[in-house]
Amino acid sequence: METMADRVRRVRETIAEAAVSCGRKPEEICLVAASKTMGAEAVREAILAGVDAVGENRCQELTEKLAQGAYTGAPLHFIGHLQQNKLKYLVGKADLIQSVENEELLRQIDRRAETLGIRQAVLLQVNIGREEQKGGADPDRLPELCTLAGSLPHVRLEGLMAVPPVFAGQENYPYFEEMYQLFIDIRAKKYNNVSMNILSMGMSGDYPAAIRAGANMVRVGTAIFGARTYPQTV
Ligand SMILES: *Cc1c(COP(=O)(O)O)cnc(C)c1O
Repeated sequence: METMADRVRRVRETIAEAAVSCGRKPEEICLVAASKTMGAEAVREAILAGVDAVGENRCQELTEKLAQGAYTGAPLHFIGHLQQNKLKYLVGKADLIQSVENEELLRQIDRRAETLGIRQAVLLQVNIGREEQKGGADPDRLPELCTLAGSLPHVRLEGLMAVPPVFAGQENYPYFEEMYQLFIDIRAKKYNNVSMNILSMGMSGDYPAAIRAGANMVRVGTAIFGARTYPQTV
C-alpha cells in the first residue's frame, strides 16, 4: 500500500524534475494540497508528509475541519468559488484567499479585514480560458482590479491564480504561458501596494507543465489524496 508520505514524496520529485528542467529551484515551488472532500485525518497526514499549505474549496468544509484542528502546522488557503455572504467565515481564517474575482469581493474583504484589524492576503483568480461558466476575472480587467486592490489598506494582493480549461497534460501549456506573461506584465507595472509574487496554477493532471511555464504554486489534490469518492462542484 502506498502511503500519504510516498505520494507526497512522488509529487515533490515530479515538482523538482519540472523545476530543474527549466533552470529553477525546487524550493521555489509551493505545494498546496487541495483537500476538498477529504477528512480532517487525511489533511493532518498530508501536513505531516510535508505539504506547504492546504487549500479548501468550500466554506462549510473549511469551518468544520478548522474546528477539528485539521490545519495545525500548515497555512490554510481558500481556492473555491467565493460567495459574499460567506466571507465572514474566511477572512482572518484563511491565510491566503486565492479566488478573488471582482471589485465587490475585494471591497468586502477589505471591510471585513478592517473590522478584524488585519490585512488579508489574496490572489486574483483569472479566467484565462475566457470560459463562460468558469470563475475568475477576465484578463482585461486585471489592471483595474490591481489598482483597486492596491488602494485597499486591509487587502494585500500577492499574485494570480488560474484554473485553465481542462485538457489532458500538455494541451494546457499555452494557457499557462499566457498566465505567466500576464503575471510578468503586471509585476513590471509595479502597482502601488501590490506584491505580485505568487503565480498559482497547475493541478494533478498538469502541474509539471504549469511549473515549466512559470508557476511557483501548484494545487494538487488527487495525486496526494487519491481519487475523490464523491462528486464535488468546484
Ligand atoms: C480540486 C482542485 C484542485 C486539485 O485538483 P486535482 O485534479 O485533484 O489535483 C486544484 N485547484 C482547484 C481550484 C480545485 O478545485
